Amino acid sequence: MSNYKRILLKLSGEALMGQYDFGYDPDVLSQVAQEIVDVQKTGVEIALVIGGGNLFRGQGLEEAGFDRVRGDQMGMLATVMNALAMQDVIQKLGAECDVLSALGIEQVGEKYSALSARAKLSDGRIVICAAGSGSPYFTTDTAASLRAIELQADLLLKATKVDGIYDSDPMKNSDAKRYDQLHYDDAINDRLGVMDLTAMVMCRDNNMPMCVFNMFDEGALTGVLDGKPVGTTVKV
Ligand code: UDP
Repeated sequence: MSNYKRILLKLSGEALMGQYDFGYDPDVLSQVAQEIVDVQKTGVEIALVIGGGNLFRGQGLEEAGFDRVRGDQMGMLATVMNALAMQDVIQKLGAECDVLSALGIEQVGEKYSALSARAKLSDGRIVICAAGSGSPYFTTDTAASLRAIELQADLLLKATKVDGIYDSDPMKNSDAKRYDQLHYDDAINDRLGVMDLTAMVMCRDNNMPMCVFNMFDEGALTGVLDGKPVGTTVKV
């Protein structure tokens, strides 16, 4: 029995690339989708926000000479493509799943509304919130904070490639220390990475707890939901 009734899971686009440099690794998509469906079957309501970094990022496109707003629109459309890919795999596993997009693209997915998303979650459907916040100059981390807050989730889960928040980069420093728990003010003041500041400030100001964990550690997602000491929890 999970400690949480409703969660919002943020997956980066890069996580979907697996071993590749661009696009999707079908094995990764299947593994992640299976874990999501398994969790949903235990009765936890689950909303997803997926990034677009495996396809396009506005900042990179700006550096390549594009107008930033247009680059961000391309980035947001990349998140829609990722949402469709994940919806397809989730539905093939037999779960009900809707894509709600912050940008109007009605042939592809319904327009996002918080109330409609909440109703679908209450009906036991998996909801993928696509196109970030719908506005340029934001990230999907910030969109994930916003959606977690307005969908009244009990926890925001940020899936990363590392198993929590460290005091320095564990890829570069073998002595890096992992935190089990952190306060938002400390994470913000010490600039302890993993999530952009706008996202962290929103979570702090709206009392939304967050857990940073490695989605690719087997059983990690279920572990977090069962209250096991997995990843780093950040609270007010
Ligand atoms: N984006 C945006 N507004 C949003 C969310 C995303 O403009 O509210 C754009 C932005 O260009 C971003 C891209 O979509 O670089 C992909 O999102 P992100 O970089 O957050 O993806 P992730 O790193 O999680 O894969």
